[in-house]
Amino acid sequence: EDEKKKYVKGKKLGEGTYANVYLGHERRDPSVLVAIKKIKVQKEYEDGMAPDAVRELKHLQELSHPNIISLLSVFSSKSQNLNLVLEYLPLGDLEMLIRDVDGVRYGAADIKAWMGMLSRAVWFCHENFVLHRDIKPNNLLIAADGEVKLADFGLARSFSDPYRVMTSNVITRWYRPPELLFGAEHYSGAVDIWSVGTVFAELIIRNPYLPGNTEVEQISLICRAIGTPTEENWPGVSKLPQFTLPSEVTPLQGRDSFMGMFGTVGSDGVDLLMKTLVLDPNKRITARDMLLHNWWRADPKPTRKEDLPKKG
Ligand code: ADP
Repeated sequence: EDEKKKYVKGKKLGEGTYANVYLGHERRDPSVLVAIKKIKVQKEYEDGMAPDAVRELKHLQELSHPNIISLLSVFSSKSQNLNLVLEYLPLGDLEMLIRDVDGVRYGAADIKAWMGMLSRAVWFCHENFVLHRDIKPNNLLIAADGEVKLADFGLARSFSDPYRVMTSNVITRWYRPPELLFGAEHYSGAVDIWSVGTVFAELIIRNPYLPGNTEVEQISLICRAIGTPTEENWPGVSKLPQFTLPSEVTPLQGRDSFMGMFGTVGSDGVDLLMKTLVLDPNKRITARDMLLHNWWRADPKPTRKEDLPKKG
């Protein structure tokens, strides 16, 4: 409980779904600014839940990488409140840049730089047996030097035990992979790769790629955009607990259809995008293999982080 004495809490910065976020600073050195995220713990889980979560989150503190937000400290207050002390990143997130179509212009070289940073963050998580499970533009925060940092590990759990049954009700719907929509209980890093693919697509078209209003509509949008899952293209899919399909069947979409929509990142970029948006999670590209793809070396070269567009 010394941890909470290390920081001084200041004004409220914002309110999220699960948390209030406050500006803060180190007591020892007030020039070190931090964001203190106070998680709202639901009534029915109150008893001793925060200390459990603190233990779970402690290992995230050791996850140190330039493209992952630093978790400086975790502590519980009043035994119910969970407090995360995070690196302070006041320049907004990728969603703000994507949406500001009139104010922010960016091109293929910028997308390549942002996607490189995101891919390295996901690779590092997976190398360390951590699934992020909620990758979306609004969880990609921007540092003063242009570095993009993966944030909001609220749902992150260790997946070092692959046989542990996990909840499939994770990941914001638009970025959710088909295996989770079908209720898969055992899943892998491939869930994050699908989300990375949908973020990649959104960066290109500057609109959410698969914006389903319900889970049923989400499955239908995926089928129309990518193709209908079958036992041929995804062995075992029909055995998943909540397997259901729309009545009209769409064949797997080929390169031409993706080139038409995403061609501005070139044929190498489209090739990488298609490999992230593969229906069968076992055939989806891994973060490690993403980093070995040709696209990174093709022209244009990724923009240097200092030269990336910022919010206006
Ligand atoms: P949500 O993900 O629902 O937007 P969060 O709880 O992550 O909610 O954050 C709420 C708000 O607090 C954000 O919109 C942002 O303005 C601010 N915020 C969150 N994390 C940080 C941070 N590390 N540095 C600066 N501001 C932050």
